[in-house]
Amino acid sequence: MTIYDISLTISPDLPTWPGDPALELEQIESMDKGAHANVTRMSSAVHIGTHVDAPHHFLNDGRTVESLPLDVLTGPCYVTQLPDGIEAITAEVLDRSEISSEMKRVLFGTRNSHLWAKGESTFQTDFVAITEDGAEWLVEHGIQLVGVDYLSVAPYGDSVPTHTILLKAGVVVVEGLNLSQVMRGFYDLYCLPLKIAGSDGAPARAILIQH
Ligand SMILES: [Zn+2]
Repeated sequence: MTIYDISLTISPDLPTWPGDPALELEQIESMDKGAHANVTRMSSAVHIGTHVDAPHHFLNDGRTVESLPLDVLTGPCYVTQLPDGIEAITAEVLDRSEISSEMKRVLFGTRNSHLWAKGESTFQTDFVAITEDGAEWLVEHGIQLVGVDYLSVAPYGDSVPTHTILLKAGVVVVEGLNLSQVMRGFYDLYCLPLKIAGSDGAPARAILIQH
C-alpha cells in the first residue's frame, strides 16, 4: 500500500487568491521565552492551500462546509493527467478523455502541478481550470467530486459559471491539490475538510491510497 499526500503545506509562502488574506502565524506563547508550552495563533481565509468549497461559497444557500457528505469526500477516485498543452478543461477535452460516468470522483492533474513542484509562491492567473461547458459535462456524467490542482476550479476572471454549476448540482469541489507526484489511475481518496461551523469552505488534508 502506498500513501500519496496530495495536500499543499500551509505556510505564509503559499500563493493566495488575490484579495484574500494570506496566512499569518503568530507565536503567542513561547517556551524560549519561559512559557510552559508553545502556542500559535493562526489567521487566514478558509480558501487556503488545499481546500474544499461549500455550496454556500457561491450560492449563499446555507449549505456550509461542515455538512458536506463524508461518503463523497472519501472513496474510490480516478486521477487523470492532462498534457501540458491543455489550457482549459472544456467539454471537448473531457469528451476526448478517458473520464466516464463510472467514475464518481475525478482529480485533474495539469501543468498547474509543476508550479507546486517548483515551489512557486506568486499567484498565477493563467492556471488551467474547468470551463462552463466542462462543468456541465461533469454534472451530466454524474461526477460527484471534482478536484483541481490550482486555487480555483474556474478560470481566472470567470469564477461564477463553473462554481455555480458544480455547487448547485451538489458536486464537491476540492481545490489546491498537488498532483505532481501522482500517476494517472485509480486510488482511494480521503479528503477531510476541517469541520468549521457555517463556513463557505475549509482547508483539507487530502491523501490518495494505492493498493
Ligand atoms: Zn475555494
